[in-house]
Amino acid sequence: MKIRVDESKCQGHSRCYIIAPELFEVDDYGYSHSRFGTDIPTDLEEKARLACENCPEFAIEIAD
Ligand code: SF4
Repeated sequence: MKIRVDESKCQGHSRCYIIAPELFEVDDYGYSHSRFGTDIPTDLEEKARLACENCPEFAIEIAD
């Protein structure tokens, strides 16, 4: 699975980090990016989907 956080959409409220801290890192302002670049481990795919569904800005893109 591939993942990307669109920096132009991210508003930095860290909701994704609260859901999946093992998958996302946030900067001092709460803006998020993937800890693993674009390719994420298989065991985190479900968390990636959950974070994507819960991002209010639709900033997280995932693709199988
Ligand atoms: S939930 Fe979405 S908008 Fe908020 S920090 Fe995460 S990626 Fe950015």
